[in-house]
Amino acid sequence: MYFFTDTEQKYLINKLLPKARERGIEEELRGWNWHSSPVKPYYESKIPMYLVCSQYCPTHRDVYLKLVENVRERFNYRVSQGIGMHKLVEFLISSYQDGKEVEFEKWWEEKSKNISDPGWVEPMRRRAIKIWELVETQIKYQLIKRKSEQPYSNKRDILATAIPLLVGHRVSGELLGLSGLLTIDAYDYLRNIVFDLKVSDEEKDWYRLYPTGYAMVLESIYEVPIDIGVVVYLRFNRDDEPYVKKDMFFIDDDLRSWWIEERDKKLKIVAERLDPGLPKKCEETCIYYHYCRGEGT
Ligand code: SF4
Repeated sequence: MYFFTDTEQKYLINKLLPKARERGIEEELRGWNWHSSPVKPYYESKIPMYLVCSQYCPTHRDVYLKLVENVRERFNYRVSQGIGMHKLVEFLISSYQDGKEVEFEKWWEEKSKNISDPGWVEPMRRRAIKIWELVETQIKYQLIKRKSEQPYSNKRDILATAIPLLVGHRVSGELLGLSGLLTIDAYDYLRNIVFDLKVSDEEKDWYRLYPTGYAMVLESIYEVPIDIGVVVYLRFNRDDEPYVKKDMFFIDDDLRSWWIEERDKKLKIVAERLDPGLPKKCEETCIYYHYCRGEGT
């Protein structure tokens, strides 16, 4: 999931990294400049990363409902499946990193208890097992490849360089006006690359805001430059076979400025308790549809 194919590796080395070096980043847009404008937040309020980046609601009323009115969201199948796949990938990679033997059936027995709708269990299981096989195969391949390249390395070195990932990495985004502990899907600490997993059939340009925001948070904490982001799209065909595509990009000044603009706009909604109102049309899959367009609270 977070490992590059040979083609992606070539694109990274021959295209993206030279572009990042040539164009560079405005110093004032680095996360470590959290104490100065424009990275410094204007308001004392805090807001979660997913709401800064999300563009699902055209007026951003979801921010108001969640943080001002405390309305409870209703998770649908799509959202629950996304949460489950994230947990699976994080668990599997970190288990291998800890040198633990893990079995799908044991993991599933425990996790499936949390699925709120019994009708979702079997469809999710069919897909989860495919993702398990895919990620496990990728990990094993990386380990075997690294062992053959470095026959004299010890086990710890092999693991740290074959799977150089902090998965489900918890960090605080407080310096940038973000609330709670953030969970970064994966951070490649050897190459300074941030990954964000999206279980989605649709590709959206604003999904790039997530790795952008996480990169700026990591810069604010570790004070290392992070120039490359990756949105990993995971989708399934009718036979529940997974397909993975990566959107790799340079986290340039435009993306950073866009993220700051979104953060400031949404912090204002919370700090000034402004209800942005309803757009002309709402998607029925919105987790607040029941409240805005349906049966009320
Ligand atoms: S139902 Fe409509 S207005 Fe309400 S949060 Fe969703 S998209 Fe926004």
